[in-house]
Amino acid sequence: MAALRLTRRFHGFYRTRLHSNAVLCSSYNLRRDSSTSSDGIDGRDSRLPVLIVGAGPVGLVLSILLTKLGVKCAVLEKSCGFSRHPQAHFINNRSMEVFRKLNGLADEILRHQPPVDLWRKFVYCTSLTGQVLGSVDHMQPKDFDKIVSPVSVAHFSQYKLTRLLIEQLKHIGFHVKSDGLLNSDDVKLAEQQILLGHECTSINTTENGVTVTASITRAGKRAEKKFHCDFLIGTDGASSTVRKLVGIGMSGEHDLQKLISIHFTSQDLGQYLMNERPGMLFFIFNTEAIGVLVAHDLMQGEFVLQVPFYPPQQRFDDFSSRVTPYLYIHFFTRIA
Ligand SMILES: Cc1cc2nc3c(=O)[nH]c(=O)nc-3n(C[C@H](O)[C@H](O)[C@H](O)COP(=O)(O)OP(=O)(O)OC[C@H]3O[C@@H](n4cnc5c(N)ncnc54)[C@H](O)[C@@H]3O)c2cc1C
Repeated sequence: MAALRLTRRFHGFYRTRLHSNAVLCSSYNLRRDSSTSSDGIDGRDSRLPVLIVGAGPVGLVLSILLTKLGVKCAVLEKSCGFSRHPQAHFINNRSMEVFRKLNGLADEILRHQPPVDLWRKFVYCTSLTGQVLGSVDHMQPKDFDKIVSPVSVAHFSQYKLTRLLIEQLKHIGFHVKSDGLLNSDDVKLAEQQILLGHECTSINTTENGVTVTASITRAGKRAEKKFHCDFLIGTDGASSTVRKLVGIGMSGEHDLQKLISIHFTSQDLGQYLMNERPGMLFFIFNTEAIGVLVAHDLMQGEFVLQVPFYPPQQRFDDFSSRVTPYLYIHFFTRIA
């Protein structure tokens, strides 16, 4: 039986936090046409209709949407847990519109986000306690007025969004698994599973569908598993392995900037900024350091400090995780 195999590219797009009407998304898809029925093909029973590689926000949202549409799917995720790094925080209208369809997720985000007046401004300053060069409200009426879109933009850390998405997935029958599957080569992957610690390392398309090899390491032991599916969807982020494995290149410039991200909490700093100069982003310029402080939640005092570095003069390894945060926080909080 002939099988048609297509490689199709979803157009991904990314937006920076400075604009309010685009969203980030990058997915690449390797597809076996389902019109070529698999009736009678060996292994049909062990094949999933859809296998998703990557349990970031795109993979998790996709799992919920597919399940709602009655499409069976499962997810492979290379990390052994979900990141606690806050990462993204600004959610635009279009993403919120998608979230609105996910059992009230948009409302839940709006309920749990910090009050808008604490994050609508970008502050430009010489230090967090020094001179304010400018304080600009970058939000626009259309971000909130529910005329262009039925939902407002939001400010909500990615790890909190991930938590809500996982809760929804569990609610619709998904299981997050991080054990098992070490003792068999060819595994039947049940639908509605998120398998942590499974890194997609190769993809093979045959007449019978797509076979994905995942590498797992547990208790120092390394093993490989093969999974079979009709459709494979790569939602494995900006450096997508799936994209590379199916030979899709990237256009445009790479490595536009290198940043060290320092995640820290400080109730005192949160309280101070809330009282004196509330904002979402603080662009700090002084003679010793430059950087951007992302206030994920002033009330909880949760921050990410982003400091640019410039290879080859500077390397990632030059930044010690013990000293660097304190040094920069010193440079950024002293009065300049
Ligand atoms: C500091 C920071 C701040 C940001 N701020 C914003 C913001 O305010 N607003 C905004 O819109 N965006 C922001 N972004 C970007 C946003 O975080 C990403 O665009 C978003 O996470 C992309 O989601 P994703 O699901 O496509 O990919 P990812 O979140 O990258 O998820 C991909 C997943 O795939 C897994 N994976 C990778 N390779 C494999 C493999 N071979 N096998 C199995 N699993 C694999 C990874 O472990 C990961 O869990 C920010 C990013 C960072 C780092």
